[in-house]
Amino acid sequence: MDFDLFVIGGGSAGVRCARISAGHGARVAIAEERFWGGTCVNIGCVPKKLLVQAGEYAGWADDAAGFGWTIQKGPHDWGKLIAAKDREIDRLESIYRKLLTNAGATIFDGRATIVDPHTVEVNGQRVMAERIVIATGGHPVRPPIPGAELGIISDDAFYLKTIPQRVVMVGGGYIALEFAGIFKQLGAEVHLIYRQDLPLRGFDHDIREASAEALLAQGIILHPGCQPERLVADGDRRTLTFGNGQTVTADLVFFATGRRPNTANLGLDRIGITTDVQGAIHVNDALQTSVPHIYAMGDVTNRINLTPVATAEGHALADSLFGKNPRAVSLVNVPSAVFTTPPIGTVGLSEERAAALGCVDIYLTRFTPMRHNLTGRPRRTVMKLVVEQATQKVVGAHMIGEDAPEIIQGIAIALVMGATKADFDRTIGIHPTAAEEFVTLRTRTRSLDLAKAAE
Ligand code: NDP
Repeated sequence: MDFDLFVIGGGSAGVRCARISAGHGARVAIAEERFWGGTCVNIGCVPKKLLVQAGEYAGWADDAAGFGWTIQKGPHDWGKLIAAKDREIDRLESIYRKLLTNAGATIFDGRATIVDPHTVEVNGQRVMAERIVIATGGHPVRPPIPGAELGIISDDAFYLKTIPQRVVMVGGGYIALEFAGIFKQLGAEVHLIYRQDLPLRGFDHDIREASAEALLAQGIILHPGCQPERLVADGDRRTLTFGNGQTVTADLVFFATGRRPNTANLGLDRIGITTDVQGAIHVNDALQTSVPHIYAMGDVTNRINLTPVATAEGHALADSLFGKNPRAVSLVNVPSAVFTTPPIGTVGLSEERAAALGCVDIYLTRFTPMRHNLTGRPRRTVMKLVVEQATQKVVGAHMIGEDAPEIIQGIAIALVMGATKADFDRTIGIHPTAAEEFVTLRTRTRSLDLAKAAE
């Protein structure tokens, strides 16, 4: 064997697994065909957050008047923002590469395919490895409608030369909502088209409602219950027709309609690794595929497609295989955030899911954040705890409001530790903050038993 471990894919999962394995003394190789750091660093979480931050200044400039400032907001320079973002991403990409070489991993810049259960081919070279890890991530998909190729996907959004004046975002998930906010804050007219009554299917209902209200308050034009049917071009303009016959014309149509695992043409069929209809690789708790010395992790397994889950899995596998510390990552109580304006933070069960499992108590508060009593901006914060009645354990915490992701990260520790409502109640708040509301929610808003939940 040339290596103890060959990692296919240099994204969040692959880089962490390769780096930690090499640190444990394993002979490690890793191949990446596009970007070191993968989607998150290059065309995902990191540049997205920079664009969100760019948008936030627009609101702050407007709001400053409420605090006595006279601020004249000039035009926004999209080109300058993208150039600054590109410099930062180049810096981070080179750090990822350096982390790997410093750890002693052998780097291959190229597409790797599996030839047989112990052989990988990359850049025309065949290398043999004791174990193989598939961490190839996923890619955005367009809906199967005529003209879909005329719209962009999130991969393209980070390289637009100019900001469109009018944008149609298709989808009601993380990416659609985040980019709707980015384009709106940076000056575009934004239409958000989604097929449910509310965005963010699967999130807590109160948060979904508050999210729709916040999008409207921001001036985003919502088209709920709409299914895209076809897209046609007229020069640079694009017209999207919905199932109900309505149309919207824009400079840009952006499909944020989900992602699929990158498993095509990897050679999986040659070694008998099967995938589901979406292309996802099945793994057991130890991240083994149906071929026990071949592992898969991160988005290619399509379970919880979040960077911190992928990095945690990469680290756990490296420790298990080479660090004499076998362990698995729990996918229970994984917190996540949607970086809208204001953002959403969530951990644990929604009211609906918790109530389907047993009786629950709900504690909920809605208020105008202190800052906006002076700015006059129509902004509401919603914070909510879902408590299992029998044990009084807090099984869900949800928030939409300023700093929600930062607040929920701490609350997630409490949920992972199994905190009860009484534990929240005996914690002293920090005043004046929004976060203190989570420890001062004294009055139960409602209780749900199974019958009520079914209604
Ligand atoms: P999501 O799965 O979150 O949302 C996809 C959206 O597209 C849903 O609203 C879905 O509607 C809609 N949709 C799917 N197919 C069609 C179709 N044929 N026609 C019309 N609408 C359709 O996917 P995203 O692309 O937003 O993000 C992918 C994943 O990436 C996320 O699930 C998340 O795991 C991760 N991510 C995380 C982020 C974060 O942590 N902040 C940021 C960005 C991405 P419906 O609900 O009706 O199915």
